[in-house]
Amino acid sequence: MQVTLAGYNLDTEIINRVGKIIDGYPYGTGDLNYLSDLVTCLADETLTPETLSAAYARISRSNKSIGELRSNARASVNRARRTNRRIVFGLGHASIAEHAVVNLDISDISRLAVEELEAHRLASYTEASQRYIAMEGDFIIPREVSDTGLKDRFQADCDELFNGYRELISSLERLFSDAPEQERNTKAREDARYVLPLACRSQVGVTVNARIAERMINNFNRSPLNEVRELGRGMLASVKRIIPSLIRYTQPNRSLEASYHEIEHISRTTISSETDQDEPSVRLMEAPESGENSALAAILFSTGVGSYSACLEAVGNMSVQDRKRLLITSHKCISAHEPLLREMELGYFTYSITLSSSAFAQLKRHRIASLIKQDYLPELGVTIPPNILKVNGEDIFNNCIEISNNLYKLLIERLEEERDQVAQYALTNAHRRRVLFQANARELTHFSRLREDSSAQWDIRAIAGEMIRLAREACPALMLFAAGKDTFDKLSEELFGE
Ligand SMILES: Cc1cc2nc3c(=O)[nH]c(=O)nc-3n(C[C@H](O)[C@H](O)[C@H](O)COP(=O)(O)OP(=O)(O)OC[C@H]3O[C@@H](n4cnc5c(N)ncnc54)[C@H](O)[C@@H]3O)c2cc1C
Repeated sequence: MQVTLAGYNLDTEIINRVGKIIDGYPYGTGDLNYLSDLVTCLADETLTPETLSAAYARISRSNKSIGELRSNARASVNRARRTNRRIVFGLGHASIAEHAVVNLDISDISRLAVEELEAHRLASYTEASQRYIAMEGDFIIPREVSDTGLKDRFQADCDELFNGYRELISSLERLFSDAPEQERNTKAREDARYVLPLACRSQVGVTVNARIAERMINNFNRSPLNEVRELGRGMLASVKRIIPSLIRYTQPNRSLEASYHEIEHISRTTISSETDQDEPSVRLMEAPESGENSALAAILFSTGVGSYSACLEAVGNMSVQDRKRLLITSHKCISAHEPLLREMELGYFTYSITLSSSAFAQLKRHRIASLIKQDYLPELGVTIPPNILKVNGEDIFNNCIEISNNLYKLLIERLEEERDQVAQYALTNAHRRRVLFQANARELTHFSRLREDSSAQWDIRAIAGEMIRLAREACPALMLFAAGKDTFDKLSEELFGE
């Protein structure tokens, strides 16, 4: 695991000052004066975004211009740090810490640990895609596994999974032999990867503000996985140097953890893990029965002067046709790249979904939704890509799943603490878990644009299709604008006319 501080935001006055020195020496760094000017310039400026946070912290109580406040904060970084500590942690005005933003390169991290990282909603991630990149037998061996003496077995079994992956790629490439090379490679990889383990190595670029960085480190420090705790230590080392005054509560609350374990015990001893084979993989658990009225009333509310109750009453008196017309009119010129009106957030849909790790990797990226996950459970079976059946790759696939399940079982038997979590490294992208997913109509429509689009991966596309079908059945008007980007023009022609 490697965590590298790749960047952070700085007051432009500092950037400009350095820029001027560089511009003043067109012949470059060989000039001794250049270096001394640069050192002099930087000596009185500690390069940190903390001065921006400290300056902004003072905006609410000072008559000075923001430029002046920034200049004062730059004049003494120590004082700026004291301000931050007092205001962010003393007064609890924590959003001040959001003005400091860092970029982190995170590499040599497993796909399982990436899930913990990306569970944090208020940050930006770009991750290596197993659809576009060929995997070369690259996986991590968790320390817990090595400590139990199972390193060689883990290594050998993961090597076997990668052999299966390569064999499946060859067969799938033949299936797409008529497609252009890049498309052929992508299609083969996107299905063959289902046999790869969650221990597979990845890399992620992360952009996150100091407030969330602190929360992440705190959460990582209480992870049952050594690798995730290592991520916490790596992040702390990277950010503490540059924003020390904004990172403070990095140690988890152990009492909270104990109470969590108590609940875990109750849940696991009272609710059976039995799986119902007939349970549909996507179930709509709650739909906003009055969601359509609420959203429409909110549109009348935001554009008018009446109370919300009066708006609800007005909507209640409208005919179905009139309500539909109001909804369509309010979105008439919308394009496939624009969000629906915020008023559409007033209706929530809750789903229970059983899905593969591959599909989960995509679902979890929708940050506005609420996503609650369980561990992967081999009892839930696996998702087998239809193209693998087409190329008679079932035996290779099943052999990989058997290797993975056996390794999982062995880890469960041999590991003592936190065995369930650590054993998940052995499971594959095809293994399944249950999640709860709650999203409002606006976010769900956005989800549909991306995930019902023809460019979306088949697994998540099928799930998205079913989610939207169920939502539409329950609340047709709220889901009026849900469609993949590629079919949006056709839909808008139908809805809005020429
Ligand atoms: C075809 C396809 C290929 C992809 N390939 C990759 C890949 O190779 N690697 C990879 O890492 N990801 C990939 N993704 C995931 C993609 O980058 C998004 O993370 C994912 O689709 C979620 O979309 P979103 O950010 O718009 O949605 P959400 O997180 O659900 O956000 C909804 C909307 O809220 C707003 N929003 C949310 N958070 C922020 C924020 N922090 N700042 C500004 N606005 C915000 C935006 O308007 C956003 O559209 C791919 C997605 C698709 C559809």
